[in-house]
Amino acid sequence: MSYTPVIGLEVHVELSTKSKMFCSCPANHFRAKPNENTCPVCLGLPGALPYSNHQAIIDTIKFGYAFKCNISQISKFDRKHYFYPDLPKAYQISQYDMPLCEDGSYIHNGKKVRIKRIHLEEDTGKLVHSVVNGKKVSLVDFNRSGVPLMELVTEPDFDSIDAAIEFLREVQKVVRFIGISAADMEKGSMRLEANVSIRNSTDKNLPDYKIELKNINSFKFLKKALEVELTRQEKLLNEGIKLQQETRGFDESASNTFAQRSKEEAKDYRYFPEPDLPPLKFSKIELKEIEDNMPDLPGDYYAKFTKIGVRNDYADLLTQDRQLAQNMLKVVSDVKYRKLDPNEIVSVVVNNKLAEIDQIRLQVNKLITQKSLMVSDDKLLGEWVETAINSLPQAATDYKSGNANAIGVIIGKVMQLSGGKADAKRVHEMIVSKLSG
Ligand SMILES: [Zn+2]
Repeated sequence: MSYTPVIGLEVHVELSTKSKMFCSCPANHFRAKPNENTCPVCLGLPGALPYSNHQAIIDTIKFGYAFKCNISQISKFDRKHYFYPDLPKAYQISQYDMPLCEDGSYIHNGKKVRIKRIHLEEDTGKLVHSVVNGKKVSLVDFNRSGVPLMELVTEPDFDSIDAAIEFLREVQKVVRFIGISAADMEKGSMRLEANVSIRNSTDKNLPDYKIELKNINSFKFLKKALEVELTRQEKLLNEGIKLQQETRGFDESASNTFAQRSKEEAKDYRYFPEPDLPPLKFSKIELKEIEDNMPDLPGDYYAKFTKIGVRNDYADLLTQDRQLAQNMLKVVSDVKYRKLDPNEIVSVVVNNKLAEIDQIRLQVNKLITQKSLMVSDDKLLGEWVETAINSLPQAATDYKSGNANAIGVIIGKVMQLSGGKADAKRVHEMIVSKLSG
């Protein structure tokens, strides 16, 4: 039987705001001493009152606009209850039924992927498993507790692993282009989850189960986890075994997924509105202002590059990195460089792995100097070619008898005669035509 994958994604992105989501502790928890960035609010001490980080809310709205979401004029925070050692309040402040952003979309290869929602919540602390005085212990570090965390949830609209991974790469790029997070997977500031099931290819209905793959911290692992999970499900379905809703982890060394727990339902979390935070309200004018001030996204840069004649594959390369895209756009649209083919500029930048604007300008200026000094006058070139061939009869004979490499020696001689100024491409053509004539 042939099956089609049904994949939905959840992405968590930590925002790089100065302070945490509901208190004024620094949000940057990398390289901080354990529990250095804490206060009664993010330690969950009784009586401590949270207040919202406005910048984190604006950042999330921008992220929502980037994925064409409807931004809610009114939304709110809710308490999501569950017990975990790194969650001192025994609830997480999140958003339940009124998220900031809903009903977005993303077009991939002409196919639409629906974004169900994007909401804002607080990150949890971190458990550190260690050995102290010869004893195995679990220590808790609350530096990460309360760091603003966005969660994007898609509908199960991906029918291939590659499409899912490409979407996640796009999410990472968009976040970086907006400048709201480093989205660094190694540091955990971007984390992936997927829900996956398979359906009979002829059946249009969604399967009645889904398996969640949690806490995956690289594109490579997610790809691998999805591959082994799809194979596992296919095998079970072929054996006539019905799959159950559950959460599974991925064991990279054993290259398989393993059951963690059966899936919680929303009612298990006993959501209720956070009484200590007022609802979030935005007027249409306020939202419009945020939308109007959206920075250029990778797709915008791509369109601008191709419009001025940059090749598609180059435009794609340039839009992998915001700094590179910004700087290159400045350079290729600079009047000073108009006489150059933009692809020539890109090729210099790509080959030299440049990203800083000063370095780019320096290289492009060099290119202009080279080109302006270059001799491409056929009469003069012809004289040098003649002299070179006459002085290297052996190379000429070798070339004529089929040794194509021998031409390099003659070109080298011409370059020497011209002081390095001869147009090498034209010289090559002239030697070929002369020796084969
Ligand atoms: Zn705090």
